[in-house]
Amino acid sequence: MDLQLTIRKRVAAEGIGLHSGQPSKITLSPAPADSGIVFRASDPHRTLIPARPETVVDSRFATTLGVNGTRVRTVEHLMAAAAALGIDNLLVEVEGEEIPAMDGSAEPFVSLLYAAGKATLVAPRRPLVITRPVRVGDDARWLQILPSDDFRVSYTLDVDHPALGTQTASFTCTEQVFVEQLASARTYGFLKDVGTMRKNGLAKGGSLENTVVVGRRAVLNGSLRYGDEFVRHKILDLIGDLALLGRPVVGHVVARNAGHALNHQLVSAIAEAFIPELRSNRATVRALAHPVDRLEGARTGTHAGGVGALPGIAAL
Ligand SMILES: [Zn+2]
Repeated sequence: MDLQLTIRKRVAAEGIGLHSGQPSKITLSPAPADSGIVFRASDPHRTLIPARPETVVDSRFATTLGVNGTRVRTVEHLMAAAAALGIDNLLVEVEGEEIPAMDGSAEPFVSLLYAAGKATLVAPRRPLVITRPVRVGDDARWLQILPSDDFRVSYTLDVDHPALGTQTASFTCTEQVFVEQLASARTYGFLKDVGTMRKNGLAKGGSLENTVVVGRRAVLNGSLRYGDEFVRHKILDLIGDLALLGRPVVGHVVARNAGHALNHQLVSAIAEAFIPELRSNRATVRALAHPVDRLEGARTGTHAGGVGALPGIAAL
């Protein structure tokens, strides 16, 4: 039987947020079985934000999670690293409003998690086995998940730009494949979009240090880490967004030109189809108190509006 994992010891990393441009720091700590990945924000209430499909509050250009108006931005690369390494349970304290961009890939988070080490918990892991196809999107951009014996992603990125063109990649996403083939693929963006994005509060921290910047004809960074780094990063993002399901997915995702918004449509459709308990919880933010209760142990009462101030968490 496959058992759930958390990390062995507390670790931290800091940097600047890709979109906010503000300094931020994350501290990762072990968490009990069945708590999932939970973010703790730095607002006065120390709001707990479980990584779940129903806490996604924005999916334009990055995945933002929120509870009661408190947000944590750009969680997807950290989520991808945790999922790929099989870390089911984790407390992520965030100082600042965004996960640090680091080098724009998931590799720094992989290194951080390996530095923390893995710890086995006495609770079974519950893989999410896809038993029938689920599809979202339209003819130009779509995502489909099909039954399969393992977790695979086959992705086509088709962009009318000389630096990108059509890139196709397919991986069976084991930990080793993720670490060796996907984790280092960086975020990318188009130079022509930078002005508009910054006006909209996005990409303020973006630079050649953490983003592959695509100019009119070519990449401005000099060299790429992989010839098809763009499609590999799309797969990395997809893995991070699927991790919001909180269980290892057993299925084959076939994708074309998707993005975070479409990823979340697929995540919601999978949850709707295969996780009845998520369906019944989704309606109320109050339901978010459940993972908090688990983190705290046998605490009773409700945490309406006050999912913060939970002394039990500090002891984790
Ligand atoms: Zn990304």
